[in-house]
Amino acid sequence: MSPRHHPSETVLLGLAAGALGRGAPLVVEAHLRACPACRAEVARLEAVGGALLEELPPAEMASNALARTLARLDGPPPRAAPLAESAESAAALQDLPVGRRRWLAPGIWMRPIVRGPRGLAYLLRTGPGAALLAHGHTGEEYVSVLRGAFSDETGRYGPGDFAQSDERLTHRPVADPGEECLCLIWAEGPMRMRTLLGRALQPLVGL
Ligand SMILES: [Zn+2]
Repeated sequence: MSPRHHPSETVLLGLAAGALGRGAPLVVEAHLRACPACRAEVARLEAVGGALLEELPPAEMASNALARTLARLDGPPPRAAPLAESAESAAALQDLPVGRRRWLAPGIWMRPIVRGPRGLAYLLRTGPGAALLAHGHTGEEYVSVLRGAFSDETGRYGPGDFAQSDERLTHRPVADPGEECLCLIWAEGPMRMRTLLGRALQPLVGL
């Protein structure tokens, strides 16, 4: 089934332009693997970027660059890769090491992947029916669902779906009953915990 929730045009443009920094592209690309429509849109935006570059004064090009580009155009269209089967393979897609598992609550753990000056990318596993503590954000957050599903105040997100939020949203995501939910997440800034318990736990898990 095709995803129903997609990144904004701004996010796709940022990816096409290579302007998303570290971490965030990982999450957008996880969505692209499940979404032919967004893959096509990113390819279109990249082509527009390429056309703009063509209007610049010519630069030295490798002698086989044209042949390589033509070969790529003639090649088969990119196939949809299956979604990552496990936390480890999700990160392996980018050859990035996955950090140690940190438990946030019974049934809920995170594993950091990339922590940069602009945010943190991590895997979050939520057990069947488990809920995260209510929280807000101090910047943008991108979520790609790798497995299972969750719901929050903005809707329900299943495999391949992309949830995008910012500091205006406060939510309490709950995993569907019957199946664990595995998400790849990039958060620009730390969470704003809405409960005393959350604020007490926050320094321990670094989210
Ligand atoms: Zn999409």
